[in-house]
Amino acid sequence: MNFELSGEDAAFRDEVRAWFADHREQIEHTRAVDWEAGGEAFERYRAWERALFEAGLGAVTWPVEYGGRGASMVQQAILNEEYTLADAPNRINRLGLGLLGPTLMVYGTPEQKARHLPRILACDEIWCQGYSEPNAGSDLASLRTRAVREGDEFVVNGQKIWTSLGRFGDWIFTLVRTDPAAPKHKGITFLLVDMHSPGIEVRPLIQIDGSARFAEVFFTDVRVPVANVVGRVDDGWTVAMALLGFERGGGLYGPALFNRILRDVVELSRREPRGEGVAADDPDVRRRVAQSYIETRVYELTVQRALTRLARGEAPGPEASLNKLYWSEMKVRLDELALDILGPRAELGPGSPQAENDGGWYGDYLYARASTIFAGTSEVQKNIIAQRVLGLPRE
Ligand SMILES: Cc1cc2nc3c(=O)[nH]c(=O)nc-3n(C[C@H](O)[C@H](O)[C@H](O)COP(=O)(O)OP(=O)(O)OC[C@H]3O[C@@H](n4cnc5c(N)ncnc54)[C@H](O)[C@@H]3O)c2cc1C
Repeated sequence: MNFELSGEDAAFRDEVRAWFADHREQIEHTRAVDWEAGGEAFERYRAWERALFEAGLGAVTWPVEYGGRGASMVQQAILNEEYTLADAPNRINRLGLGLLGPTLMVYGTPEQKARHLPRILACDEIWCQGYSEPNAGSDLASLRTRAVREGDEFVVNGQKIWTSLGRFGDWIFTLVRTDPAAPKHKGITFLLVDMHSPGIEVRPLIQIDGSARFAEVFFTDVRVPVANVVGRVDDGWTVAMALLGFERGGGLYGPALFNRILRDVVELSRREPRGEGVAADDPDVRRRVAQSYIETRVYELTVQRALTRLARGEAPGPEASLNKLYWSEMKVRLDELALDILGPRAELGPGSPQAENDGGWYGDYLYARASTIFAGTSEVQKNIIAQRVLGLPRE
């Protein structure tokens, strides 16, 4: 990142860079397996989270009292960039760290903060997000999972879907309908549910790329203490939207990732045979590479501008949607370009001697579609940009 860093931020970048260099072996040991395999593979990722936590790098923006450093968003962005440059492993507790943790700091009771924040940071408990339902995705407020109060408990019945890490979750933060007679954005409550409670069933969902990174979660008469409500009963929408703000804000960062993908695409085009020469000789490939260069550069500058605002203490605002829309669609175009360069060879999967990158480009291409859907689809981001950035009328 070419962002103009203050002395303090530059020192932080140097510290982080040195730490990743010292942990090269653990990074490679962890990345050698896929956490989705579960068992020992998953535990390697947990050990990585603990190493980050012990180095004070688990959640740098969290206040010191909760195990963070009270660092700025700029330092978080620096960490994100160095993380990418170090090719460090996926963060298995990202939903707890990036979404629930910050939300609990604003809306949680002292007991909830004391109970959950340290366990999230130490990766003792894995968290899932139980928002979407079969008929409530973009229109989340249509959710129907029901919670009925009985004394000091709620009894929960219903179903969630697309629950990332569902198979591994110890806890789920979820939205339930507590007042069906109220208008649909009212009468919703934000609940913390222990996934080991009787009445919870998790069914893995197999994706197009063959992995099962998310699941359906069924609730049958699950009893949840009223003390697990975050915010007020029937006012969960406020808490849910605050959490989504943290989720979309996270998309502000990552130029290093896209620059690296572009570099790999360029290298691929220079060596992949095409006719008498290589793919890079093809004018259409050259045009698309140039376009990708422009797009990644625009993204980098846009992120730097957003960081400048954050460094001045200004809020991210609805332009988080612009960033999310831009990077997710750019990623699809980059992966499509790689596939077009490879031609039919792109479809060769892991283990095939002729496969490029062990079939990784194809897997990336399939997964790229997902980023235009999670945290709000591209169409939903466009609606937000139209209404809240450009000030256009709703209909
Ligand atoms: C990889 C991945 C991980 C996920 N992880 C989780 C998770 O952990 N927990 C969780 O709760 N959910 C998760 N989701 C679900 C995700 O939040 C939803 O898929 C998303 O909100 C869209 O909802 P939907 O799938 O029901 O699609 P729908 O809302 O049914 O949308 C279908 C299509 O209609 C379009 N559309 C809908 N409404 C409008 C509108 N008003 N204007 C214009 N177009 C519209 C959409 O853009 C889309 O193209 C995940 C999704 C993915 C892909």
